[in-house]
Amino acid sequence: MGSMSLKKFLLLSLALLLGVKPLPSAPIVDEEYPVVILGGGVAALTAAVQVSQAGFQPLVITGPKPGGIIVQSHSVRNWPGEIEISGGELADKLQKQADACGTLFLHGQVIDVDVSKQPFVFTVQSSENKVQKIRARTCIVALGALPKLLGVPGEQENLFSSIFTCAPCDGMHFKNKTVAVIGGGDSALTEAHYLSNLAKKVYLIVRKDEFRTIQPKYRDSVLSRPNVEVIYNTTVSSFQKNENDLTLTLSSTKKPLTVHGAFLAIGSLPNTALFKGKLELDKEGFIVLKNQQETSVPRIYAAGDVSDKVYKQAMTAAGDATKAALQAQEHFGNHLILQTKSPTTSIQEIDSMDQLRSVISSSKKPTVVYFYSKSCPPCRSFSPTFDTWATQLSDKAHFVKARDTVADEIFEAFNIRAMPSVVILDTKGKPIFEARGAELEKVPAILQHPK
Ligand SMILES: Cc1cc2nc3c(=O)[nH]c(=O)nc-3n(C[C@H](O)[C@H](O)[C@H](O)COP(=O)(O)OP(=O)(O)OC[C@H]3O[C@@H](n4cnc5c(N)ncnc54)[C@H](O)[C@@H]3O)c2cc1C
Repeated sequence: MGSMSLKKFLLLSLALLLGVKPLPSAPIVDEEYPVVILGGGVAALTAAVQVSQAGFQPLVITGPKPGGIIVQSHSVRNWPGEIEISGGELADKLQKQADACGTLFLHGQVIDVDVSKQPFVFTVQSSENKVQKIRARTCIVALGALPKLLGVPGEQENLFSSIFTCAPCDGMHFKNKTVAVIGGGDSALTEAHYLSNLAKKVYLIVRKDEFRTIQPKYRDSVLSRPNVEVIYNTTVSSFQKNENDLTLTLSSTKKPLTVHGAFLAIGSLPNTALFKGKLELDKEGFIVLKNQQETSVPRIYAAGDVSDKVYKQAMTAAGDATKAALQAQEHFGNHLILQTKSPTTSIQEIDSMDQLRSVISSSKKPTVVYFYSKSCPPCRSFSPTFDTWATQLSDKAHFVKARDTVADEIFEAFNIRAMPSVVILDTKGKPIFEARGAELEKVPAILQHPK
């Protein structure tokens, strides 16, 4: 996953969408908002709930990863009130809560910011040609951070084909295969844990002689898995792709390590390029906080991984965001009346082949099956597109969803190895089109003009 063509396609499809639910475009263009929240992760969604609870209607600009990076975690155990929850479920809950409170969502990417005067102006690109200006009285920056790369030979060429940064998104390529996870922190442990349920063997390559973790119990449980092996005091100095495998040159031994794929979990870089020279940033690019969550520009606040280089947790992101929203509140101006939202239509979830057969036999139209995971960021970006197709093309086909953790049997039957994927079945249940990546955009045309 993660190819340029998919990104391009997703941007194009966003033009159709403008939101988890279609949003009215008129109130968004050139509107002024009491608070604009940049980002769509834990920090942004928590801030949106807090702002909404105070009676104001925030605009959340979600960017390329609705739900944020927590979606990559298949098991979160430190969220209050939840013994264990997947990052995808957690992001869903937060999104629903923010939505129910009246938050407006704009699924676009901020491409320019002018914070030299008030109101602040944000330029947002929601498709190749559609650029909107959004004005804000206050702003909460919750842009998170991007995965760091090693910068060694062979990395760029093989990125997203043999080297990945998200196990729940791409781990399925490695069922019963051998993988390496590079990193020595909690993210590396989480990725290794996820992969150890799929892969035959997981090597964990750690630079130091120990893990940097805030969860020693979790570390111990991951490392006790029989198919997990740790290689300490080692760095990777190059990757080389052979026909079916990937060779890693390691600093600690002359013998290279050959695996089928590698996952990088070596930390992150704050997403602050837009604010360079406009907000005070530290040497590593993190936003510098001046007064609690306030940045160097009054009325601009920051929360979450974009300004926290120490803890970088969902919990701390939520705490920062609550403080930022409370701080920002006093500058919102007059109360805005919250708009109510219509409930979303839900698409049937299927979990067994019997259920799928029964759907096919009771429908006179083709059936479109969307294979997804709650923990796969590209799926979250694509899901609103699928929901729109299901509404707009309901006369052409019956739309259903199959989720990785509950519909194993269906994934196996259609040999689904990457997500998001879509399979169109004819009225007898025979696959007539399978799509993933850039090919997904062909689905509506195929339904409209079947051969
Ligand atoms: C594998 C993994 C497991 C983890 N497990 C845990 C755990 O168990 N417990 C825990 O507390 N924490 C965990 N974390 C850490 C936690 O996920 C993060 O600290 C937290 O989610 C950060 O939230 P955030 O909102 O600050 O940033 P993010 O979630 O990174 O959100 C950033 C948002 O900014 C948006 N964005 C980026 N660029 C733009 C742009 N130009 N315009 C508009 N929007 C943009 C993105 O689309 C995204 O929605 C884990 C992290 C990983 C990677």
